[in-house]
Amino acid sequence: MSDTKEFTSTAFNEFLSEKKLMASQCKKCNAKYLPPRSLCTRCYSGEVEWIELKGRGTLTAYTVIAVGPSSMIEEGYDRKNHYCSGIVQLDAGLRISARILGVDVKNPAAIKIGTPLEVDFLERGEGENKKTFLAFKKAN
Ligand SMILES: [Zn+2]
Repeated sequence: MSDTKEFTSTAFNEFLSEKKLMASQCKKCNAKYLPPRSLCTRCYSGEVEWIELKGRGTLTAYTVIAVGPSSMIEEGYDRKNHYCSGIVQLDAGLRISARILGVDVKNPAAIKIGTPLEVDFLERGEGENKKTFLAFKKAN
């Protein structure tokens, strides 16, 4: 892969806006990192590269949130309109936390660990304020 962006959360978010879920991978030992890191913590190599993940995985943990941060309140989530945040075990062997869509937040007990998920990209805001957030939805 010829992408030369630095291995930062800023670059990770830029890739999200291109609807790409990117991790870093060590060229020496193939360890993968998400969020991306510029230094391999397994073999201490600084030779890492960007890899694009397919964005499929399963739900391993979740929480339904009633009182979220201000960014979520602005989106209309509150005590009456909950949202789900979870940890996704990706098929690539990595874990990441993200918003979980398409699950029944009114009945959290019905949300199943192991639910197959696929990546989704949520766009919020307009123009310069436009941001893309990582989310996962139930896979078909
Ligand atoms: Zn390594």
